[in-house]
Amino acid sequence: MAELVQRYLDQIRAEHATNGDGAVADYIPELARVDPAGFGLSLVLDDGFCYESGDTSTEFTIQSVSKPFTYALALDRFGFEAVDAKIGVEPSGEAFNEISVDETTNIPKNPMINAGAIAAVSLIPGDSADERFAQIHAFYSAFAGRDLPVDEAVYASEKATGSRNRAIAYMLQSFGVLDGDPDETLDVYFRQCSILVTSTDLARMAATLARGGVDTTGRRLTTPPVVLRTLSVMVTCGMYDAAGDWVSAVGMPAKSGVGGGIAAVLPGQLGIGVYSPRLDGRGNSVRGVAVCRSLSERLGLHFLSKARESRSTIRASYDVRDGIRVYELHGDLLFAGAEQVLRTLDDECDRFEIAVLDVTRVDDVDSTARRMLAGMRGALAAQGKVGFIVDPDSVLEAPREATFGTVDEALATAGSDG
Ligand code: GLU
Repeated sequence: MAELVQRYLDQIRAEHATNGDGAVADYIPELARVDPAGFGLSLVLDDGFCYESGDTSTEFTIQSVSKPFTYALALDRFGFEAVDAKIGVEPSGEAFNEISVDETTNIPKNPMINAGAIAAVSLIPGDSADERFAQIHAFYSAFAGRDLPVDEAVYASEKATGSRNRAIAYMLQSFGVLDGDPDETLDVYFRQCSILVTSTDLARMAATLARGGVDTTGRRLTTPPVVLRTLSVMVTCGMYDAAGDWVSAVGMPAKSGVGGGIAAVLPGQLGIGVYSPRLDGRGNSVRGVAVCRSLSERLGLHFLSKARESRSTIRASYDVRDGIRVYELHGDLLFAGAEQVLRTLDDECDRFEIAVLDVTRVDDVDSTARRMLAGMRGALAAQGKVGFIVDPDSVLEAPREATFGTVDEALATAGSDG
């Protein structure tokens, strides 16, 4: 039944596939050479389950999507007070690579612009560039759940041409923000930008943030306060100068990069990774923004939307008699909850002939979840199974013939059917 969700994602991605607007980054030849048509969309749920659509195994450089993760690492290793003394949390209203600091504090305005990102790199403890990079690399890899490679050609090219970033680093040194050698810090920054990821890696990294810094094996990679702070600056500063448009239209903490990647986080629910290298005038992936916008609208993902997902949508499940299994749901039912229900039915489908979905305790259902659960009965029928719904208040607005007022009524019908 997870194929219902898969089809939905494929359809949303397909709607944007023909959009050829924008241009790939060309400030170094290595980036200009990428296939502009590449388009991958990945969605990773709270439990690590992953949906992929399109070019989800194409690797591209992480670029500025790295910034929130290095900031999180600096906070984790160095502490809030020390980091806050060097990097602010205010949106800058300036270009991401502006050679400037806050006029009153003399520190970079936030960690999502280059000045703040370079300052964050300088705070990662280590005796050499290699040691610092090793920590950054290990941290990102843990978030992604695999050992991420580095694009050596992009690294060499970033390093050979990065005068503007060099100007920023030396400016930071003159303001006392950078203590160490600016060139060593820059070397680590260029390497961090050259780490290779796929859209699925970004979705997994985002999902680890969505889980509050715990990976799918249950290992804690950083603390909840660090994740909260990181997501906060992603909300206000993550999408270059389009933060306001993004929050209004999409409503998820996110970060984009000139490599064409976007990572977006819906706390407690899921992570999204998109890859499409053609960028708009602000440096954001054109189709990446468009597809996130559609996902948010169609799946009801805006983080300020009214209803909140309860952590566990399936409150209880039990066998009443051979071949009949009841699933009791509760809380508000949104996309992630409905997805959980469909996938549980998939996983357990050899345990029942008839599934009874009891939504008596569900408070509110959005239109996405309603559509998804409406598809459930058809999908079960295709597998030779039957789905009954217990819905005394008609919250699912499902057809009457399959809907019952109580579990007992459903079982009586199931009994006479069987
Ligand atoms: N390596 C790029 C720079 O620092 C990253 C740009 C970006 O993705 O915003 O200029």
